[in-house]
Amino acid sequence: MSLEANLALIKERIKRSCIKSNRNQNDVKIIAVTKYVDVDQTKEVLDLGLEHLGENRVQNALPKYEKLQGRGFWHFIGRLQSKKVKQILGKFDYIHSLDRLSLAEEIDKRAKQLGIKVKCFVQVNISKEETKTGVEPENLLDFIKEVSKFDSIQLVGLMTMAPYVEDKELTRPIFRKLRELLEQINDQNILDYKLTELSMGMSNDFEVAIEEGATFIRIGSLLLK
Ligand SMILES: *Cc1c(COP(=O)(O)O)cnc(C)c1O
Repeated sequence: MSLEANLALIKERIKRSCIKSNRNQNDVKIIAVTKYVDVDQTKEVLDLGLEHLGENRVQNALPKYEKLQGRGFWHFIGRLQSKKVKQILGKFDYIHSLDRLSLAEEIDKRAKQLGIKVKCFVQVNISKEETKTGVEPENLLDFIKEVSKFDSIQLVGLMTMAPYVEDKELTRPIFRKLRELLEQINDQNILDYKLTELSMGMSNDFEVAIEEGATFIRIGSLLLK
């Protein structure tokens, strides 16, 4: 199938999930995860009108970023090594994988040098799979309080990954928990601003994530394979 046909199908499914959960379709944004494809296909994605791109490896993403002259909004969605932070700041618009204070410190330091604020999601490890990274839910509020001291980091929301399962319903408690954590942070005024974004849902489970409140879904294989 063509990219265009894949996108049309995904949009139709997003629409259905929004209707089912009484949500506004404009509140769900697609991040096209272009980590699987080359610069030409990434350009096709942009030409189709998708504005948000997701990449998980600095060394693969930067050559594409340069060739595409920074078109679109770039989301860093993979595990981020502190030593690579300086390569992506000023280029990537969002970091979805803030998961430790040492990383926050490095982002803050480099952002100050550039005179910018960096939009970050805190990644939360709800499924507790060994292979998944992220802050443990029970440490999240303290972590957010600590990160709020870094004034060049602007927290926008929370991100999580659910395990791949055949029965997508099994992912629902994970996405619901992420939304509840966001509400808790806002209700308790942990920050002096509100978190608004939930980055959750991938090709296998985005419909359940939308029903539970996702504002950014990260779609790779369904769009590009
Ligand atoms: C690869 C990746 C995705 C996209 O996964 P698909 O199943 O291909 O849609 C989403 N989020 C993260 C963090 C990823 O690494």
